[in-house]
Amino acid sequence: MTISVADVARRQAALLDEVRALVELESPSTDKAAVDRSVAHVRARARELGATLEEYPQRDYGDLTIAAWPGEGEPVLVLTHLDTVWPVGTLARRPFRIEGDMAYGPGIYDMKASVAMLLEALRLLHERGLAHRPIRWLINTEEEVGSPVSRPLIEAEAQRSALVLCLEPPAPGGALKTARKGVGIFTVRITGRAAHAGAEPERGVSAIQELANQIGYLHSLSDPALGTTVNVGVVGGGTRSNVVAAEAWAKVDVRVATREEAERVTAAVLGTRPWLPGATVTVEGGMNRPPMERMPAITAAFERARAIARELGLELSEAATGGASDGNFTAALGVPTLDGLGCPGDGAHAEHEQISVSGLVERTALLAALLHRW
Ligand SMILES: [Zn+2]
Repeated sequence: MTISVADVARRQAALLDEVRALVELESPSTDKAAVDRSVAHVRARARELGATLEEYPQRDYGDLTIAAWPGEGEPVLVLTHLDTVWPVGTLARRPFRIEGDMAYGPGIYDMKASVAMLLEALRLLHERGLAHRPIRWLINTEEEVGSPVSRPLIEAEAQRSALVLCLEPPAPGGALKTARKGVGIFTVRITGRAAHAGAEPERGVSAIQELANQIGYLHSLSDPALGTTVNVGVVGGGTRSNVVAAEAWAKVDVRVATREEAERVTAAVLGTRPWLPGATVTVEGGMNRPPMERMPAITAAFERARAIARELGLELSEAATGGASDGNFTAALGVPTLDGLGCPGDGAHAEHEQISVSGLVERTALLAALLHRW
C-alpha cells in the first residue's frame, strides 16, 4: 500500500485549516451570493490541484461545478455539496473550534469536512504521482433543498461512471450507508364550504373535518414492517372558531425502502378521494428521491471498499438510514454507489454538529486509497 493513515496524520494541521476555511464561508442553500463565495474558494483549490473546471451558472442557487482530472478507464464520480441548512450568522454564535478530538462549526459534518478531505486526498495522489481513474467531482450547491437543478447533471454523470463516491456523513460509528430510504413530498389541499357554525351549520362543509379524515387515511398507508412511513407534518386551515372551515391543507412526508412501496404509496396519496359529500381534495407532489436499495452492485462495492480499508488498518461497517442524499439518484440508476464516506461525527442539521479529528485523518486516507486503487 502506497498510502497510509500516518501520511495524512502529518498533514492534520493543514487539513483542519481547510475545514476551518470552509466552515467560515457560510453557505445556506437559499443564499446564492454566500454559496457562490464558497464555490469560488473550492474552485480555486481544485485549480491549484490541476483540475479542469466545467462551470454551470445558476439563477436561483449557487453555481454548479464539475472539477475533472484525467486518468485511466471509466471515471469515478465524487459527489459533495457546499450548501448547508444554517443561515448566515450561525457562525457568530457557534464559531469553529476544536476541543480534544472533536471539531465544531455549522455545516462541518454535513459536509464541509468532506470537501476538505477530498482536496487533501487529491493533493496526496498528485504529489505522489499515484495512478487513478478519471476523477469527476461534482460540487453541488442545492443538495439540502432536494437537488432540484443538479439532478439531471448528477444522473448524466453517474451513467458514464464506474463508481460513485458520495461524501455524505456516515451513520453513527462511521458506517457507510448502503441503503437509504426514498423521500416523497406532497401537499394536500381541501376545499369545503363556509357557513355560520351556530345559525346554519348544515349549509357548510368542513374542510377541517375532511382533513381529519385524510390524515387518518394517509397515516394508515404506513407499513413499518416494510420501512414505509407517511407523516402529516404540517397542517393549516379555517378562519374562526364560529365558521365552518372552507379551506384546509397538509404537508406530507413519505419514506420508503423499496421502489414497489414508492409506487404503491405515491398512487394511494395522489388517488385519495374526499369522504365528506361536497368537499374536494387535490394533491400535488411526488417522490423527490428514489430509494437506494441494497442491491448486489452496492454490496460488491462495499466489500471491495472494506478490503481496501483493511489494508489501511481500518474496519468499515455498513448501515441503512431513513435520510436521502444525491446517492439515491445514482444508486437508482444501478450505478455502484458508496455513500456515507464523509467524516465521522455527529449532529447533522443539529446544534451540536461536530466531527472527529482522528476520523477526518482516517477517512482522508481511505478516500485517497479508494481513488488510487479502484
Ligand atoms: Zn449532506
